Amino acid sequence: MQANQAGKKITHIPYGRHWIEQDDIDAVVEVLRGDWLTTGPKVGEFEAVFAQFTGAKEAVAISNGTAALHASMHALGIGPGDEVIVPTMTFAASANCVVYQGGTPVFADVLENTLLLDPASVESKITPRTKAIVAVDYAGQPCDYEKLRAIASKHKLALVSDACHSVGGAYQNQKVGTLGDLSCFSLHPVKHITTGEGGFITTNSTELAVKMRRFRNHGIATDHRQREQQGTWYYEMLDVGYNYRLTDFQCALGLKQLAKLPNWILRRQEIARQYDAAFNGNANLRPLTALPGLSHAYHLYVVRVPATKRAQLFQDLRTRGIGVNVHYVPVHLHPFYQNKFGTKRGLCPVAEAAYDQVLSIPMFPKMSDADVDTVVATLRELVG
Ligand SMILES: *Cc1c(COP(=O)(O)O)cnc(C)c1O
Repeated sequence: MQANQAGKKITHIPYGRHWIEQDDIDAVVEVLRGDWLTTGPKVGEFEAVFAQFTGAKEAVAISNGTAALHASMHALGIGPGDEVIVPTMTFAASANCVVYQGGTPVFADVLENTLLLDPASVESKITPRTKAIVAVDYAGQPCDYEKLRAIASKHKLALVSDACHSVGGAYQNQKVGTLGDLSCFSLHPVKHITTGEGGFITTNSTELAVKMRRFRNHGIATDHRQREQQGTWYYEMLDVGYNYRLTDFQCALGLKQLAKLPNWILRRQEIARQYDAAFNGNANLRPLTALPGLSHAYHLYVVRVPATKRAQLFQDLRTRGIGVNVHYVPVHLHPFYQNKFGTKRGLCPVAEAAYDQVLSIPMFPKMSDADVDTVVATLRELVG
């Protein structure tokens, strides 16, 4: 509860929220009382369970989702002169990871009905320098991996799935985490499950997993615990890497959270069905299209509202305690990209038009039916 300007008590419903319970806290405290705060047994345990959950052969725990994307670009050998195709309708990190490696992100447009990467736009952006495609499962709905995989195979490109929105989802009965050559996840509190900060990369390639485990530990071939066990001080640095490790107490939290994820996704899908039904036929509140044949993980629930009403609606909803947000400012319109890569308005017209209309409304598993009703009633009242 908080007070609005008139001093009236209002319930604040955020657009997304983590869910921490006593068993999560107990698991963290247990690790804090033990010997290994970082690079201990919980890391491997979390990696094994995450791999099993996604159905991938390997899961590499890492400090955050951005580091997961960076490690992917490193593992694929992206460097100066290389181009990587990225949708513009995403968080900046999906493109920044290419820049970290000295490569050039090339922005592709999205499909009007889903805001997912448009395979036709991807094909039109391929050059002899293109090395990889980053597919972002916007809002939690998996991209058209059948088409994207065909394009990647035809042009011998790597396919990276930025699955930061779609953990627990599936495409044609194939789980998110196995859809790209590499799949990246975030464990930030606003995402499905959290470790405070955290991330994962899944892959079926042991070779790439070995590279990424080195990358998260300065480029050193062995970790501290392995050397303790072997009773040796000697180590070798093979690449230049970073300190992108995830701690043991974070992994303990992640293990608890992951066990709850299937039920949380069911709840997200239930909330989405309630919103879908409530907005059905309303020309001023148009949800994105949820496609058949896949399991949408609903990190976000996005509606389109008339562009002329969006700014006022954003303000009014916030004043009324409804924590809406806008996902995203198209990445190619950020001053950094305009200045450094010469991108400008007109490059991705579908994403640019969508940006003026989208509104992410509250979506998190702890939301009650009463919260959903409050959001629906308030939106209807304000939009008509
Ligand atoms: C959250 C997010 C990231 C970055 O994850 P962090 O854990 O915050 O570093 C990358 N890509 C997308 C699409 C995201 O939503």
